[in-house]
Amino acid sequence: TGRLNGKVAVVTAAGQGIGRAIVEAFVKEGATVYATDVDISKLAGSATPHISALDVTSTTAVDALAAELGQIDILANVAGYVHHGSVLECSDSDWDLSFDINVKGMHRTIKAFLPGMLARSQQNGTSGSIINLSSGASSIKGIANRYAYGASKAAVIGLTKAVAIDFVRRGIRCNAICPGTVRSPSWEERVEELGREVGGKDKAMEMFIARQPMGRVGEAWEIAALAVYLASDESAFTTGTAIPVDGGLSA
Ligand code: NAD
Repeated sequence: TGRLNGKVAVVTAAGQGIGRAIVEAFVKEGATVYATDVDISKLAGSATPHISALDVTSTTAVDALAAELGQIDILANVAGYVHHGSVLECSDSDWDLSFDINVKGMHRTIKAFLPGMLARSQQNGTSGSIINLSSGASSIKGIANRYAYGASKAAVIGLTKAVAIDFVRRGIRCNAICPGTVRSPSWEERVEELGREVGGKDKAMEMFIARQPMGRVGEAWEIAALAVYLASDESAFTTGTAIPVDGGLSA
């Protein structure tokens, strides 16, 4: 009764946080999942036995993995990098790194995996699904000190809609998820970092929580639940969307 029975998925940045939770949820719903991360050591204990190193900033590595895995149904683009600061604290290299990981990383994986997804969708008569992790910090909302990050995550929404339209009649759907603040290893680091700026970790934690009218941060499984829906045929009529899961951040 798995909602993803018979489907094959690739997940980037699957070593921790949202990516790891998405792998767990996909496996639980019956998918064959290939979990990847730039740091393969983070994939130890993953819910799937299929793990490989993948740096989404390497076109060669992405192309090689796509050639190795062949046809897939689901591509979850989770890799992302958070630069902290306004335009005044953003160097050219901060900007370039943000766009290289957050936007061009998705360009690379989609370009590499889409031909196989198109072929598989045609063969099976099912739709392929691309799921891109954007953020509430994007074209949805300006968030303090998320200059390069917010710009890059807005670009993810544009990329998502462009792919959705180009392949809307060819069996491929493409949607973005826009989380509010979600507990993850990198978020814990951001709390520490902000704590040093604002005079304490508790104060920093309060500031992050205050962004969500719901009065809490989200959990990775709450994002994975939407990823399962978008990956499954339950969402067959849904493409080109940017869906918030954010405790009311965008309300
Ligand atoms: P995280 O930041 O804790 O972990 C990121 C993972 O990405 C790590 O395992 C890391 O090794 C991997 N990674 C880094 N560079 C990579 C690269 N070049 N290629 C492949 N993998 C790489 O995870 P998270 O906080 O759950 O964030 C996951 C995604 O969700 C990101 O795109 C992030 O921007 C987005 N997001 C997170 C939040 C949040 O509050 N946590 C909110 C909105 C959006």
